[in-house]
Amino acid sequence: MVAAHHYQIWPRDPGAHLFVVQVTVSNPDPDGQVFAMPAWIPGSYMIRDYAKHVVAVRAEADGREVAIEKLDKSRWRAAPTDRELKFTLEIFAHDESVRGAHLDVTHAFFNGTCVFPQVTGQEHKTCRLEIHPPEAPLGKHWRVATSMRRDGAEQYGFGRYIAHDYAELIDHPVEIGLLSIGEFEAAGVPHAIAIRGNTRVDMARLCHDLQTICEHHLGFLGVPADLDRYLFLLNAPGSGYGGLEHRWSSSLICGRDNLPARGDEGVSDEYRTFLGLVSHEYFHLWNVKRMKPAVFTPYDLAQETYTGLLWVFEGVTSYYDDLALLRSGLITIESYLELLGKTITRVMRAGGRHRQSVEESSFDAWTKFYKQDANAPNAIVSYYAKGALIALCLDLKLRAETEGGKSLDDVMQAAWREWGETGVGMPEGGFEELAAEISGVDLADFFDATVRGTGELPLESLLKSHGIAYHLRQSSGGQDNGGKPSTDDNLPTVWLGANLGTRNGATVFLSVNNDGPAERAGVSPGDELVALDGLRINMAGCEARTRRYHPGDKSEVTVFRGDELMSMKLKWLEAPADTCYLEVQSEVAGDIELRRKSWLGQ
Ligand SMILES: [Zn+2]
Repeated sequence: MVAAHHYQIWPRDPGAHLFVVQVTVSNPDPDGQVFAMPAWIPGSYMIRDYAKHVVAVRAEADGREVAIEKLDKSRWRAAPTDRELKFTLEIFAHDESVRGAHLDVTHAFFNGTCVFPQVTGQEHKTCRLEIHPPEAPLGKHWRVATSMRRDGAEQYGFGRYIAHDYAELIDHPVEIGLLSIGEFEAAGVPHAIAIRGNTRVDMARLCHDLQTICEHHLGFLGVPADLDRYLFLLNAPGSGYGGLEHRWSSSLICGRDNLPARGDEGVSDEYRTFLGLVSHEYFHLWNVKRMKPAVFTPYDLAQETYTGLLWVFEGVTSYYDDLALLRSGLITIESYLELLGKTITRVMRAGGRHRQSVEESSFDAWTKFYKQDANAPNAIVSYYAKGALIALCLDLKLRAETEGGKSLDDVMQAAWREWGETGVGMPEGGFEELAAEISGVDLADFFDATVRGTGELPLESLLKSHGIAYHLRQSSGGQDNGGKPSTDDNLPTVWLGANLGTRNGATVFLSVNNDGPAERAGVSPGDELVALDGLRINMAGCEARTRRYHPGDKSEVTVFRGDELMSMKLKWLEAPADTCYLEVQSEVAGDIELRRKSWLGQ
């Protein structure tokens, strides 16, 4: 029996945002124990170098200081000792995202990747964690929410917790503060949601809706053998949005007013977005947390890990997140088609889909999708949005070609049996092979075109074969994200070919579309728009004014580039039909109607 590592964390100085963390190692490496902080957190594919927030380190054995050598940006080595070694860090925590750690006088939140050093070479050992309260009087009513197994701590209390190994230790984010907690069961498994923030939410309704989503997914892919609990951690500030998946929990952020209050009925657009986020992160407990790319088994948290498969893990998850809301009865068909229309619009508006495939986008996530610059709309495609549409096309193609015999549901269930239940990583290309094998359909050309190609997806014909009409129209302006027919009887016929935004009160070109009117005129990202045809203009005014021009008309655009005033000649071009909406076709043949019902679970 090897002794466990003993980790402790103190919210030492909330005013200065400092955690103190200590790990005690019973049998340190005789050559000098190495400690390492992760460079990234699973689920967010960017190098974040969490060691950069470490402000002090110290090591001791038998009460005597042990020398430490810094090996590189993320690692330290303590001098050799045959005694029990204590390694202590002070860590600055002021990142309120789901990927970070945050401490102030109102709460504490941390991901293990941000605060717990890895005991290199002994990662397989059990990790005990002791969570200490802040110094009184702070934290008198604070509670602790985490999916980590208790090892002496009371429920929602400070004290001792335990994880099987280091990988598990860092997969349980912890929220500590004034929490509202709701509990429910799904398929017999205890679930909870812990909310930070003064939300005045209708907790009974929230738990009911979450239970509906969880039971739907549990019914689809089955209860994983080790899923004996699940926790949603929700931070609900004034505004914000984000989520990160874990095996037994997820961290979510949404605006507090997006949650339903008591007496609210119906599903607002904002609450629908939140339910989609819940559905998305929960689906990940199968798709990417237990079934994952082979290169992630195990994770190498010291450096980038490349895979062309993120479109499967994020795209397929993004397809099922909203579809589950419809299939479980939380939203209507019209509402679902609106969401789908918006996703199609998002993809249609990014010219980068003609430059980059989703396989390339997955591979280069580290430097492109997660590090977007002003050229991103021209250069990259989202493996989330286009990945979701590839999943849709695959689902509909299988349903059509097997006459309803097989669907993406069958492929996902088979994938779960093959790589999820076994824990064997999915090889690159494995998903495509399995889809062909399960369905008996030759999918080689389909995957070459959609996953490795950059052409348009066969959405219109596939949707039509399922009784859904596909329409494209021109955009009515910056607030128009698609999904609905236009109510505007005077849609602009021309466009600038640029994304405008407001910075410090100024109207700025955030990005400029390749080969659009603005780029041809000489406008650069970052230019401040000052006037159009000699008249001062702002963002709203520009949209209104655009309606007065027609294709071929010429204008003078005046911008500040830095402090230089510049005027450019712009020729207006016809606005592209890049805005999608979908409709249920009312009169369709019986077999098409059956197919539609089977797909949408009606
Ligand atoms: Zn995701």
